[in-house]
Amino acid sequence: MIPYARQWIFDDDLEAVRDVLQGDWITTGPKIGEFEEALCARTGSSHAVAVNSGTSALDIAVQALELPPGSEVITTPFTFVATSNAILYNRLKPVFADIDRETRNIDPDRIREQITEKTRAVLTVDFAGHPCRNDEIREICDAHSLAFIEDACHALGASCGGRMIGTWADMTVFSFHPVKHITTGEGGAVLTGDPRLTERLEMLRNHGIDRSAFARSGPGSGYAYDMKYLGRNYRLTDFQAAMGISQLRKLDRFLERRAEIARRYSEALSGLPSLELPATRAGNTHAWHLYTVLLKGIERDAFFREMRGRGIGVNVHYIPIYRFSYYRALLNLSPRDFPRTEDVFSRIISLPLYPRMTDGEVERVIEAISLPL
Ligand SMILES: *Cc1c(COP(=O)(O)O)cnc(C)c1O
Repeated sequence: MIPYARQWIFDDDLEAVRDVLQGDWITTGPKIGEFEEALCARTGSSHAVAVNSGTSALDIAVQALELPPGSEVITTPFTFVATSNAILYNRLKPVFADIDRETRNIDPDRIREQITEKTRAVLTVDFAGHPCRNDEIREICDAHSLAFIEDACHALGASCGGRMIGTWADMTVFSFHPVKHITTGEGGAVLTGDPRLTERLEMLRNHGIDRSAFARSGPGSGYAYDMKYLGRNYRLTDFQAAMGISQLRKLDRFLERRAEIARRYSEALSGLPSLELPATRAGNTHAWHLYTVLLKGIERDAFFREMRGRGIGVNVHYIPIYRFSYYRALLNLSPRDFPRTEDVFSRIISLPLYPRMTDGEVERVIEAISLPL
């Protein structure tokens, strides 16, 4: 079976991990700051806070806003559950805005419709690695004094209007899970241009404590610290940070290979009347985390089963959030209120896409997809 995604780890990544494991600081040491600086250098952001998962990064990004309980955060229903769960962890209310069919991203016009006097933030997702209309979303947030958090777990290395993802929103979140662009096993980060948010995020990942163990370790330093927030232990280890630094050096190669595979799919599949292929909006560079197609005149679940039977690890991203029983019980939303999300969900399929995929595997996928059901 050709999987839909998988990591690519090199000997020098292993060396980097080994070096740290044989040193003094295997967690909360100097590699964390180095990884954060490397993330800033790559994205043009001024601050980064590395944590143990993309989910933790989303959680502390929302928490750092210090919004009153019951505030509303507008987000997309077409994402992984971690996005909107971060709103619930913080006792805030997720308000879903329907998506745009072509990009599967949150539609700025639908954001405008959902704004009430309780709205305090917008949390977007760059679906598949294709950036949202960030210029318009930034404008909406500024006009209504809303915070802008970007879940860019699909979009490391992407850009929008000539500006890197990581510099648009008040806080941008990345994940380093094995299916993402670079991996630390589990891992994530929040990027921001705001030093006050950075300070808060650094405390939130470490129990809400204002000085790290590293900062309290020198001969001249004292034992004292304060706990200012109800934070958690969301720390990344130093050996994971070392792996992240080493993986980040390969990001350009990874992005290039992903784009190459996407081009080959588009070229080979463009003649098939049963498929609507993904497009890239002018001014965007796509990070190609996923290559998703919409089926026309073919039943999606039958197609899914047939492709899995042919050894192709197709997948479905995503089951809309409002369809899950937990969310149904909590918010009682009707799928009819999200006609474009419903239409896309009923027809979407993700094809295998990862940098390590060989040309032969790409051709096997194309062949299997091109055969009649
Ligand atoms: C992967 C992902 C997350 C969660 O990241 P983890 O590192 O797995 O916790 C959140 N949002 C989106 C859109 C993702 O793809």
